[in-house]
Amino acid sequence: MTEKKISAFLKDRTAAFTPGPVIFRKGTVERVGDGVVHVKDLPGRKYGELLEFGSGVYGMALELTENGVGAVLLDAEDSVCAGETVKGTGRVAEVPVGEALLGRVIDPIGRPLDERELETDLYYPVERPSPAIMDRRPVDTPLETGILAIDSMIPIGRGQRELIIGDRQTGKTAIAVDAIINQRNTGVICVYCAVGQKSSTVAGVIETLRAAGAMDNSVVVHAGASDSPAIQYLAPFAACSVAEYFAERGRDVLVVYDDLTKHAVAYRTMTLLLLRPPGREAYPGDVFYLHSRLLERAACRSAETGGGTVTALPIIETMAGNIASYIPTNVISITDGQIYLESELFHAGIRPAVNTGLSVSRVGRSAQSEAMRAVSGTLRIDLSQYREMAVFTRFGSDLDAATVKMLRRGETLTNLFKQGKSHPYTLFEEVAVLLAYEADTFRDVPMKALGAKVTDYLAHMNAAFPAVAAHMNATGSMDDGTRAELLAAAERYREGTEL
Ligand code: ATP
Ligand code: MG
Repeated sequence: MTEKKISAFLKDRTAAFTPGPVIFRKGTVERVGDGVVHVKDLPGRKYGELLEFGSGVYGMALELTENGVGAVLLDAEDSVCAGETVKGTGRVAEVPVGEALLGRVIDPIGRPLDERELETDLYYPVERPSPAIMDRRPVDTPLETGILAIDSMIPIGRGQRELIIGDRQTGKTAIAVDAIINQRNTGVICVYCAVGQKSSTVAGVIETLRAAGAMDNSVVVHAGASDSPAIQYLAPFAACSVAEYFAERGRDVLVVYDDLTKHAVAYRTMTLLLLRPPGREAYPGDVFYLHSRLLERAACRSAETGGGTVTALPIIETMAGNIASYIPTNVISITDGQIYLESELFHAGIRPAVNTGLSVSRVGRSAQSEAMRAVSGTLRIDLSQYREMAVFTRFGSDLDAATVKMLRRGETLTNLFKQGKSHPYTLFEEVAVLLAYEADTFRDVPMKALGAKVTDYLAHMNAAFPAVAAHMNATGSMDDGTRAELLAAAERYREGTEL
C-alpha cells in the first residue's frame, strides 16, 4: 500500500479551510517523548484540536492544562524537538464521508490505503453526538447474519448493539465477516473497522469480502498495529462517522469494531503517556465513557431524522474465557446482548463456537422475522435440556427410549448449527433446516454424514419451492399453510419420495 505521509495529507486538509485572513495561535514545545508532546503557552487551545509542529508533523490535543497542552502525535515520527513552535489549526480530526467510500479502504483520517485517489469533498468530525432519545425509535427490523445459531436464538435487529466476545482464535472475526457477506443483496451498507490488527489479517478479510462480492457495499477503516495509538484511538469513531453519513440519509448500516480490546489498550497507552492517573487494570477512569459514547451512536433513527439505522457489532477478546475482567464487563453492560464464543467448543469442532447458554440478545427477539419466529421457539430450551441430560447420562448405560431420543435430537441440533465460514444461509434455508429438525428428518443419518445430507436437503428444498423461497427471503413472512407444506416436504425427504 502506498501511503502519503500523515503530515502531508493533513497539511492539504487544513489548507482547505483558510478562506480569510488567518490568525495563528502559537505555542512552544516543552517536552517530547514516546509520541507525546507537552506544549506551553498555546492560547485558545481546544480539546481534540489538531496541532501542527514545525517539522510539519501533526498531533492531537488531548490534555488541556492551565498553561499548556498535552498532545499525542499522529505520525510515528520523532522529528519534533523541544523549543520549537507549535501552531493551533483550530480543526478537529475529520474523516471523509459519502458514496465514494463504498468499496474503499481508508485509514481513520481518510487517507486511501488501496492505491486509488479518493474523491469526496464532504468531511465529518470523527467525534459526533449520538442521536437524542426523541430521535430514536424501537428496533423492529431483523438484521440477518445468515448464521443459523445466531438468527434463530440470538437474533440481531437493525439499530442494535450486539457484542461478539471470546478468546483469541475462536472465530470472532469470521462471524462478523459472515454477517457483512450476508448483507450483499439486502441494501445494508457495512463498515468494517480494524483496530490494532496485523495488516496481513486485515488484507485477508478484505480479500474474503471481495471474493464474496460484498466489498461493493462496504467500507474498511484500518488502523494497524504499527500505527500510533492516537490513530488507533480515532479508528472506531471515524468508522462510525462514515456509517452515520448513510444512516442520516435513511440507509441501514452495519458497523463492526474489530476489536475494542485493542482500542482500549491504545487508549490506555495514550493516557498513561499523558500522565493521567491509572485506575483499574491501569485503564483510565474514562475508558467506560470512551466505549459508551461510541456505541451510543448506534441507533435506530426516527423518520424525522432520516429513518436510517446503525447496527454495531463490537468485538472483545477475552483472556482464558474471563468475561468478568474490566473491559469485557464494561462493554457487556453497554451493549444490548452478547454472542459468547468458547475455545472448547471451537476445538471440539462446533463452529461457530457459540455458547448458547451465555449468549443473549436483549432487543432482537421483537425484531425477528415472522418465519423465523414460527420455527425457533423451543430451540434454546431443547439445547439446554440436552446439555443437562448429556452430562447426567455420561456414565449411565441403560437409558430409556425417551432419553435416548432426546439425546440424539439434541446432538443432531448441535450439529445442525455447525456452519462453515463464508457460507451464510438464506432465511428460507434456515427455516428449512429448523423444520427438518422439527420433523426429525435426519433421524437415521449418522452424525458424520449430517453436513453433506443437509447440503443435499437444502438443494432439494430450494429446487422444489423456488417461489416460496423468494417470497420468504424478500418479506420474512410465512403463513401456516406454507409452514405445514414445508414440514410435510421435510418428512417426504426422509422417506426419499419426491418433494
Ligand atoms: P483473533 O483472536 O486472532 O482475532 P478470531 O477470534 O477473530 O481470532 P477468526 O480469525 O475469525 O478468529 O478465526 C480463527 C480461525 O478459525 C480462522 O482460521 C478461521 O478460518 C477459522 N474459522 C472460523 N470460523 C470457522 C467456521 N465456522 N468453520 C471453520 N473454520 C472457522
Ligand atoms: Mg479476529
